[in-house]
Amino acid sequence: MKKLFYLFIALVLPAALFAAEDINKQVDKSPKEQPSQTEKHGDGKQGKPPALALDAQRFEFVRTNLVSTFYHELAHALIDIMDLPVYGQEEDAADVFSVVVIERLFDDEAALNINSGGAMGFKVDADDRMSKGREWDWADEHGPDMQRYYNIACLTYGRAPEQRSDFATKMEIPEDRAEVCGEEFTLAKRSWGPVIEQLEGAKTGEHIRFRQSARTGLQQRAAGVIEAQVKLVNDTFDLPKHLRVTVKRCSRGRNMYAFYSSNRHKITVCTNYIDELYRTAPR
Ligand SMILES: [Zn+2]
Repeated sequence: MKKLFYLFIALVLPAALFAAEDINKQVDKSPKEQPSQTEKHGDGKQGKPPALALDAQRFEFVRTNLVSTFYHELAHALIDIMDLPVYGQEEDAADVFSVVVIERLFDDEAALNINSGGAMGFKVDADDRMSKGREWDWADEHGPDMQRYYNIACLTYGRAPEQRSDFATKMEIPEDRAEVCGEEFTLAKRSWGPVIEQLEGAKTGEHIRFRQSARTGLQQRAAGVIEAQVKLVNDTFDLPKHLRVTVKRCSRGRNMYAFYSSNRHKITVCTNYIDELYRTAPR
């Protein structure tokens, strides 16, 4: 059966559009980010919307979360089109993939920023949930937000424990957990590494096609972030089947932020999610 992997996050959509819309959520959120050079590419494209005065720090939160989420969704797509075995929760496997592939595609500083932002996205969600007195839905297919936060932070730290002790401190990874992060990353790399190498060495000519129907300046710029990731993946990997990635407004009444549709081989990133990230970005 085809599954839709989607994340919902607790949110309150912009009053103008979704005034009393409820929120519930679970975002198929995953890890997120991209290199600054590609972002410039995104920024300049289409030369269209009048430069919106976006807060740089808040947009960085949007950018890193989108990149992390993009690779999380790409993991779902790869598991599907490559018939990969998953020994455990697929959502966890997708988080692990996002960290490993980001560490592979980006330089040290960029990868750290992306994975750090991706982890923080879950903390923001957890804090928001707690402030509203809502308990985690334990039946959800995703792990609890703070578990995902620590998992991503630990793997990221474990990539280079000697150089990233400041990161472990900043992310408040408990000492007991920090001790095993190096081993966790090694296992993660051993598990996903061969898959990534297979994609790097493939000569299938199958790539990702990108489309977007973003509206606002923020959404346009954010779509550029996703488009840059698609380009990076297309420049780096060949896939067994082509995929589609689209950035579009998702149906109202549902708080879907990003998801993979296996029957259509398509990753959708909702503009609702972009707006939500910008709204909830730490100040
Ligand atoms: Zn997912």
